[in-house]
Amino acid sequence: MRFKKRIENTKRGYRILARYCPGLIRAKVLHSIAKTLAPFVTIWFSARIINEISNDRKISRLVLYVALTIGINFILSMVKNVMEKKVNDKESGMWNYFSKVFSDKQMEMDFVSHEDTDIKKQKQKAEENLFMFGNGLGQLVWDTSGLVEVFIGIAASVALTVSFFTSKSGNAVLDSPVWIGGLLLIVILSGFITSKLKMKEQAVFEKWTDSNVWFNRAFMFYGHELYSDSARAKDVRLYRQDRFADREMQKLQDNNEKDNGLLRTMSSCQSRLVGSIVQYVGALIKMVESFGELSDVISENKIYTEHLEHLYEYLDIPNRKNTGSVHIDENILKTGCEIEFKNVSFKYPNSDNYVLKNINTKLKTGMKQAFVGQNGAGKTTFVKLLCRLYDPTEGQIFLNGRDIREYDYDEYLKVFSFVFQDFKLLAFTLGQNIAADTDVDAKKATECIGKAAFSERYAGLAQGLDTYLYKDVSEKGVQISGGEAQKIALARALYKDSPIIVLDEPTAALDPIAEEEIYGNFSNITEDRTAIYISHRLSSCRFCDEITVFDNGGIVQKGTHESLVKDEGGKYAELWNAQAKYYRTA
Ligand code: ADP
Repeated sequence: MRFKKRIENTKRGYRILARYCPGLIRAKVLHSIAKTLAPFVTIWFSARIINEISNDRKISRLVLYVALTIGINFILSMVKNVMEKKVNDKESGMWNYFSKVFSDKQMEMDFVSHEDTDIKKQKQKAEENLFMFGNGLGQLVWDTSGLVEVFIGIAASVALTVSFFTSKSGNAVLDSPVWIGGLLLIVILSGFITSKLKMKEQAVFEKWTDSNVWFNRAFMFYGHELYSDSARAKDVRLYRQDRFADREMQKLQDNNEKDNGLLRTMSSCQSRLVGSIVQYVGALIKMVESFGELSDVISENKIYTEHLEHLYEYLDIPNRKNTGSVHIDENILKTGCEIEFKNVSFKYPNSDNYVLKNINTKLKTGMKQAFVGQNGAGKTTFVKLLCRLYDPTEGQIFLNGRDIREYDYDEYLKVFSFVFQDFKLLAFTLGQNIAADTDVDAKKATECIGKAAFSERYAGLAQGLDTYLYKDVSEKGVQISGGEAQKIALARALYKDSPIIVLDEPTAALDPIAEEEIYGNFSNITEDRTAIYISHRLSSCRFCDEITVFDNGGIVQKGTHESLVKDEGGKYAELWNAQAKYYRTA
């Protein structure tokens, strides 16, 4: 890596540390300055004191030098101790802050990136490097002391020993250029060898971490999932897959230990060599030691800047959803929204199959649309594209005539309320769940509870909107059934003043009576909003103005229930008859 790039990576690392672990680096730098300067202060004042004793012998000056030596050393030692404590406190907590670096990235990342196996691997590698070995950010923190100590050490020792090289000692050996040249050669050689060894270690390490990622994954699979997954239990026993798994695990373990052993041997060789060189050079002269350490600091820097590069690659994965900046008109609820899909086709990442093919459709303001079709026809995928969990592979989606990618993503999301099949309620109060906020408009919340047909159960809750759901945070929390949860999720969607409401299988957990109670009144509860209603039960789609029939990734029919049922060769009639038959025989 080029020197300039290394400096950039180091600087960016310090910016990340300043943001996530404020004060840590400042404390480390102050600690190292105090620690490194102390011996030089003593050396410098000792020389003054010896001079004073051998020349003028002025008591007042002698006392001043002694007092300054003690005083400055005292202050430096205080700074060192206070900072040491601060560094220890902050360093012990820094791993939590490092986790925050990853969780922040997770939160801002596109949904699609979460499912991308390459990105998952990249994240795992960056996390393992950091949390298992301290590579990158961890090393940067630890090596900061070395960095500061070397630079202060060099500056101070150059200042103190410059006279050794410039003034003549009178000793023929010490004054000879061979001696001085020899010293410099040792410094350069020690730097060169250290740096080469570290590079080699880095290469072995890279190989080892790479195989270790797979090792851990494979280990989890063979050693844990294979046995704990009850769905697999039958096959594992019938085919004695456990024996095969044991052999595979042993093979993985052997390979892993081989690389690990090589790494340990290299590290110990290197520290013996560096130790003896540094010790030998250090015994000769302080400056040589500082230069030796400089080469160490530089080669460490080479290593952690490489590791930081992996972290940055992950942190720099672009967030496409954040690219738009057009604001959504605040009056959109009143003015309405029209959605249009134009020639939209879509493949999931890492898949070659189109799950939506050339979709062209318009959702007009205020319309109640039902999407029907067999499992896997593409209905949910359509909705995922609409809310930009994914972007179309081909074609465009428009909101009021503008490509949805141009809008500010957070504002765009405000246009929608969703009730997904796998919706989640949280262990907050009922009111907070409905408002998705700590501030709850009680009147509005109870209205939505009414529309979602939850009033009866609600009347029985002594704490009303302040009732905690589930028992995670409050002993008095109430357990709710799947059907009740679905009603609360619908109330939450209605509470949000969004012009489009999307309900994906909202009736799955409801009994037919509750379903009729809510959706018989569908137009009223959704008011002027545009509504998309996905359901397997065709009988509950009759409430909608228009039914769109998906089949095999395409839209094959559109119309009202009455018109579609009459089209006897059509998909809708086929589905309708199949379901009617099912109801008759059930
Ligand atoms: P529907 O909602 O009509 O049941 P979906 O939109 O959920 O259909 O699924 C359409 C197709 O896309 C199916 O073949 C499904 O297997 C596939 N699919 C859904 N999610 C993913 C995913 N995350 N990755 C790859 N394929 C997916």
